[in-house]
Amino acid sequence: MAAEPSPSGRLFLITGPSGVGKGTLVTALLHRHPEIWLSISATTRAPRQGEVDGQHYFFLERGAFDAKVAQGGLLEWAEFAGNCYGTPREPVEEQLSAGRPVLLEIELEGARQVRQSFPSGFQIFIKPPSFAELERRIRGRGTDSDEAIARRLERATVELEAESEFDAVLVNADLETALTELEHLMGLS
Ligand code: ADP
Ligand code: 5GP
Repeated sequence: MAAEPSPSGRLFLITGPSGVGKGTLVTALLHRHPEIWLSISATTRAPRQGEVDGQHYFFLERGAFDAKVAQGGLLEWAEFAGNCYGTPREPVEEQLSAGRPVLLEIELEGARQVRQSFPSGFQIFIKPPSFAELERRIRGRGTDSDEAIARRLERATVELEAESEFDAVLVNADLETALTELEHLMGLS
């Protein structure tokens, strides 16, 4: 019989197209549930205005990122819209052993890799109410160049075809409703 859902020591993963609201949902979730440990990824992307090294990401040069990959220091990694992103392995393993719920917010290729290494993890796909709304949000965020937006929207069409691979699909239409549903899916409410 399957164990009761319990957030402790469990690996949760959130994915979905850029601009769908993953970061917004995760920030609100952590505010309500500070016991959740959010993995901080490494990336070769340049920091956006206001992003702090070691807080939003570990910002690495490509050489340093490649060295981490070569050392087996990343649990998964992928290229997304021209930059590399990866999850540092050690802190995730430490937090899981300590019994804390761990949350990864990563893109599709990484999610597929994590599915192989952590088959018991719970993977949630966040989707927008419509493609037009996704585009409106990504433009409204005002953080990406036109070129970066075009690459992200192009990638979004591929990502949106993958929803059936996931343990759960959540539509982020109204933020508060989506947050409540997310809590429910994670066994937090
Ligand atoms: P992601 O992390 O998935 O790339 P963000 O969290 O940065 O996306 O959200 C993209 C934009 O959409 C932000 O400007 C955010 O404020 C807005 N947003 C997020 N969720 C909603 C929602 N439910 N309704 C309307 N706008 C939203
Ligand atoms: P952004 O540049 O908007 O911060 O992130 C771009 C994409 O990279 C998002 O879909 C985000 O979920 C994903 N991402 C962030 N960190 C990681 C990571 O460690 N691994 C992978 N595979 N994707 C990541």
